[in-house]
Amino acid sequence: MSEIGYFDEGDLVAVLTTQPLDRTLDYRAPEGGCFLGAFVEVPLGPRKVLGVVWGAGRGDFDRSKIRSVSRVLDVAPMRAEMQTFLTRVADYTLTPMPAILRLATRAPGLGDPQSMRKVYRMGEEEPSKMTDARRRVLGVLEEFGGLSFTLKELADTAGASSSVVKGLVKLGAVREEDSPRDLPFPYLDPDRPGKDLTDEQMKAADRLRADLRSGQYGTTLLKGVTGSGKTEVYLEAVAECLRMGRQALVLLPEIALTAEFLTRVEARFGARPAEWHSGATMTERRRIWRMVGQGGTQLVVGARSALFLPYRDLGLIIVDEEHDTSYKQEDGVTYNARDMAVLRASICGARVILASATPSLESWANAEAGKYERLDLTARFGAAVLPEMKTIDMRSEQLQPGTWISPTLRRAIQDRMDKGEQALLFINRRGYAPVTLCRACGQQIGCDHCDARMVEHRFLKRLMCHQCGETKPMPEACPSCGVEGKLAPVGPGIERMAEEATALFPDARIAALSSDLYGSARALKARIVEIANGEADIIIGTQLVAKGHNFPLLTLVGVIDADLGLQGSDLRAAERTFQLMRQVAGRAGRADKPGTALLQTFQPDHPVIRAILSGDEEGFWKAEAAERQAAGVPPFGRMAGIVISGPDVGAVFDLANAMARNDGPLRQIGAQVFGPAPAPIARIRGRHRVRLLIKAEKAAPIQAAVAKWIAPLRLKGDLRVTVDIDPQSFY
Ligand code: ADP
Ligand code: ZN
Repeated sequence: MSEIGYFDEGDLVAVLTTQPLDRTLDYRAPEGGCFLGAFVEVPLGPRKVLGVVWGAGRGDFDRSKIRSVSRVLDVAPMRAEMQTFLTRVADYTLTPMPAILRLATRAPGLGDPQSMRKVYRMGEEEPSKMTDARRRVLGVLEEFGGLSFTLKELADTAGASSSVVKGLVKLGAVREEDSPRDLPFPYLDPDRPGKDLTDEQMKAADRLRADLRSGQYGTTLLKGVTGSGKTEVYLEAVAECLRMGRQALVLLPEIALTAEFLTRVEARFGARPAEWHSGATMTERRRIWRMVGQGGTQLVVGARSALFLPYRDLGLIIVDEEHDTSYKQEDGVTYNARDMAVLRASICGARVILASATPSLESWANAEAGKYERLDLTARFGAAVLPEMKTIDMRSEQLQPGTWISPTLRRAIQDRMDKGEQALLFINRRGYAPVTLCRACGQQIGCDHCDARMVEHRFLKRLMCHQCGETKPMPEACPSCGVEGKLAPVGPGIERMAEEATALFPDARIAALSSDLYGSARALKARIVEIANGEADIIIGTQLVAKGHNFPLLTLVGVIDADLGLQGSDLRAAERTFQLMRQVAGRAGRADKPGTALLQTFQPDHPVIRAILSGDEEGFWKAEAAERQAAGVPPFGRMAGIVISGPDVGAVFDLANAMARNDGPLRQIGAQVFGPAPAPIARIRGRHRVRLLIKAEKAAPIQAAVAKWIAPLRLKGDLRVTVDIDPQSFY
């Protein structure tokens, strides 16, 4: 390899592929040579697979058998800092490198040459004959006037076949055009005027701008009550970053929530940023992936995996709602996007802003310890004030069986309706009822593959397992005893609350908001905008509504079951309940009308409920931190969760016991092993799950010890061991 990282034709190169191999493979550099970091296609057995030139070849293969790189893809080589980042993520999460590389190449056809594609828009003609399918296609084009669709996107969105679209093209009702696939994104202008900031906001923005100009890594915790203008303030940091010619990334927790946000970005900078999320089409993904690498996009707004895009010069990462649990990916590679954002920024000299009204205890503690800068926005913008919060003591309310809206809450809702204002009922459970019980035999309907109950979804007319996603029709007869007509719903879900609200307020316009009640993220976004504009009197929502939306007419929030999050053995239960309740309450009274939040609870004296009411956040954090410190748990100690799973429960326990006995490498660092114990969900998709919990001191090298501990394992049959460093929840 030359000094500039160039390999001549025939040089041995080590290629990291996305295939599950535990090492790089040697190849010969192709005709014309290649750069270190080049994305390549290499032959592997009979196939061609994607890889990256990771370094000089190891030379431990029979040289006569080494094959050549098939071709170098036409994309920017991976930067050294990205190689470092991926390696560090792999080390931190104990994930094999190929899986990490897959995360970083989640776009199809990466190396394909620039090409044109057909797109479809509304045409001029009316079709002579209208069918339902044709009407749906034209309806989609009308609804999303400015967008052009690929054939598949249009057909899928309309629920029609592609021949219907083609037929409409022939008739001139739909237009077919050529469009290049990968265009740079429109220019975002940082110098368009932003809003006039208040003194407090201005001070925070000035500080963030100065931080950025330092050009050095650093993290800021931007804490401010909902509505205090955190977004307004961090968009000023984005503007500064763009002025410096560097790229910015805004991570958001839930993709359904970006409609309002994107409009704000557009208003500030005059164009839309790149949007990276699971709903993006393959072509959009490819375009973003390439443009990010070429500098053809200044700002990416995205879900957690946007962190793994190949930015050319990333200067700022914003993690909005940094406490949100969806930042922790729990499937496949278990990484926490918030922590990995800090890691990435520290490698590439970028700033991080963690924004939240209710920071995670980790971030709060890091700020306390001086590792993070902390900026507080204390005032809500304009006249909006934090809602008044009160409990409704459910022990003294009279309720009919099978109902959950207390008389006190009902009067409060009626009062808002009389004034033409909105009320939100918060229930963090999807579906109709969490349990379906047979009144003949007393059995609950469970999932066939998991130790989980099936949840009735009346809207879909099915039972669904929230663990594995399995669904089945609602049976007439009890699957256990066969008696018909005795199955009864137990407990409330969002659909059942909607039913109760409809019965209590027959004249109200009621909107139930839960991800599964809408066919697409788009439909949900559209509905949220309508509701914000006043097209509903009562909103019933799951935690989806707790985040980020502005409902200006909303002045009452009723929390149906504030005790829900207090149950269970989760380490973070108190913290989560505190955050969720504060956020939900933060939805009320955002504009000029003061809001009220009413929490229905059977435990009004619970410390968490009391902390929520008193609003003494620092007090809550301090008490919670002291408890965790005493217990030596995160963020004051380190933990790793190990799940051993397999179809045969005996084999699973045998392995777990053997692992617990042979804990030498863990003992060497003073770590303790707890378990094995059945995981809280002891069976998922037919696999039995047993967990070990490892606890170590903060400074202990837990990854290295765990790696050393599991390395000698030879997994027989279908046994699997997964490692979760810093587990968020104890599944
Ligand atoms: P947060 O992110 O803290 O919840 P936002 O930035 O979303 O707060 O601000 C809440 C609302 O107040 C938004 O509609 C925002 O546009 C508005 N707002 C905040 N600060 C200002 C300002 N200085 N001038 C005008 N509007 C503002
Ligand atoms: Zn299941």
